[in-house]
Amino acid sequence: MKKKQFKAESKKLLDMMINSIYTHKEIFLRELISNASDAIDKLYFRSLTDDSVKMNRDEFCIMLDIDKEARTLTISDNGIGMTAEELESNLGTIAKSGSFNFKNENADNENADDISVIGQFGVGFYSSFMVADKVEVVSKAFGEEKANKWISSGADGYTIEECEKENAGTVITLHIKEDTENEHYSDYLEQYRIDELVKKYSDYIRYPIKMEMSHQVPDKDKEGEYITEVSVETLNSMIPLWRKSKSEIKPEEYNEFYKEKFMDYSDPQLVIHSKTEGQATFNSLMFIPENPPYDFYSKEYEKGLQLYSNGVLIMDKCADLLPDYFSFVKGLVDSADLSLNISREMLQHDHQLKIIAKAIDKKIKNELKKLLANDREKYDKFFSTFGTQLKYGVYANYGMEKDGLKDLLEFKSSMSDGYTTLKEYVERMADSQESIYYACGESVEKIALLPQLEAIKEKGYEVLYCTDEIDEFAIQMLMEYDGKHFANICKDDIDLSTDAEKEAINKKNEDSKELLDKIKNVLGDKVSAVKFSNKLGSHPVSISAQGYVSLEMEKVFSQMPGANQGMKAQLVLEINSEHPIAEKLKKADDEQLKKYVTLLYSSARLIAGLDIENPTQFSDLIAEMM
Ligand code: ADP
Repeated sequence: MKKKQFKAESKKLLDMMINSIYTHKEIFLRELISNASDAIDKLYFRSLTDDSVKMNRDEFCIMLDIDKEARTLTISDNGIGMTAEELESNLGTIAKSGSFNFKNENADNENADDISVIGQFGVGFYSSFMVADKVEVVSKAFGEEKANKWISSGADGYTIEECEKENAGTVITLHIKEDTENEHYSDYLEQYRIDELVKKYSDYIRYPIKMEMSHQVPDKDKEGEYITEVSVETLNSMIPLWRKSKSEIKPEEYNEFYKEKFMDYSDPQLVIHSKTEGQATFNSLMFIPENPPYDFYSKEYEKGLQLYSNGVLIMDKCADLLPDYFSFVKGLVDSADLSLNISREMLQHDHQLKIIAKAIDKKIKNELKKLLANDREKYDKFFSTFGTQLKYGVYANYGMEKDGLKDLLEFKSSMSDGYTTLKEYVERMADSQESIYYACGESVEKIALLPQLEAIKEKGYEVLYCTDEIDEFAIQMLMEYDGKHFANICKDDIDLSTDAEKEAINKKNEDSKELLDKIKNVLGDKVSAVKFSNKLGSHPVSISAQGYVSLEMEKVFSQMPGANQGMKAQLVLEINSEHPIAEKLKKADDEQLKKYVTLLYSSARLIAGLDIENPTQFSDLIAEMM
């Protein structure tokens, strides 16, 4: 019989399997059982509408057989089966899944990619070559007369020939490899080991996975002696993980389930498993990944939870179940209240689905609040990964969701090394303090250098450090927390002084009107006001913003496409009335004043993180004065 060659890429993958040093070779069984279950699904679905399928739901099963003498492990199913062409195209070519492309990209590091490909995707049928040196597949497609047998001993190709088989379905026989120094392949010929693997990986497969099991039982006729009893047993519980009670599930089971189902290498940071009864009855099992999914920040990313109706998948990514600010959450919802035949369009208007979505949102928030209260380190880690999403959530939809999210927010601050919540900030507020102060900048280090900060810190007040672009937008949307308003320390209306101090500075500004006007004239439209200030500590100048648009917001707006000129901050040049520079300005002649003001204004812009119009002039002026 003519040997056919595998397609080039399939051959490469096959080689990889045959020579694999992967330590979790045991996954081959999970892969073959999943294929068998998929094949049964197909025939079962067909039986719902096609009377020629004379099978009842409870007749479908997957059989495992061990023959120790022959060193074979057989996996049989009575599913849809494959025609000769299907055997050829399905098993002769590696599935079109992403796994193979992934391998090519990493082709220079053989071992590493071996593990990552297998670990990340599983590689289906070919994984059987990790434990078998010869594989036979006998399959009869539903509705066909003839069956076919596909045989391969690995990389040298495969044969297909016609054969007899009574019923539709597929029988896969693995000729298990001989043991080596490092690998005890004979394990896969032990019933306890196979039983263990089924329970570990395939417990929630919805069809029974059966195997002949032998047990030693006391002999009724002969006291003290044992006989071997053989019976066919169902190894899997068939209950999906999410339908089991929490107390029955080990953390590893959740982790395995998550990684396999949602294709992640890392265990999730948080598992949320719950059963909800009431207006809607459903089970949900959700996960917060350790890292953002690789395509999370791309347009292709689709949020959503899997939707099941009574254990049967009806939609893979139901976006309506998750608000945007929780788009990183993975998981599933299983409800008996939803009809199996519901269409996507109908789902959008489904009342039941809306109730479920609301309950899911609440559940995730509650779990995060619990985490915040009980395991701060873990919460902080979560927040550093996904916190920005929550801040966007506060800002989005005109702040509609802000109340539900405000207690989940965290900020860096002048008083804590890590993160602080708004509640913690307010609890620490001094009696005399009226506002929640915040400052914006690129980094904590840069904010800490702002001249405005000194005076506020001197008062013993805490300042939130906003380093995310979205921070200030979210804060503006919040407006207040616990009755305390937010105040940007870089805005000109910040005032911490006592009444006497206020009076003094007002008087100073009035008395210096002529000088201040002159300075304003030098600067023209660049600033909307110039004034003396008593809140700059030891620093000579600063720029603050007047009105709604702050300096940071201007920076964000200016980076947006079609930058909007109207969205500019109105700048106020503040000069420290206590600094020697104030005297110097008073005494300067017009020519000098022009230069001083240009210098002061430029340096104030630099401090605020704004660029300056003419850096050359700035440098020339400094050199001239020196
Ligand atoms: P995947 O399952 O990811 O598609 P596999 O390499 O495991 O990749 O299988 C390739 C294809 O072979 C499957 O998609 C399916 O069409 C077919 N197949 C595998 N096992 C069976 C089976 N037991 N019964 C029917 N078809 C099968």
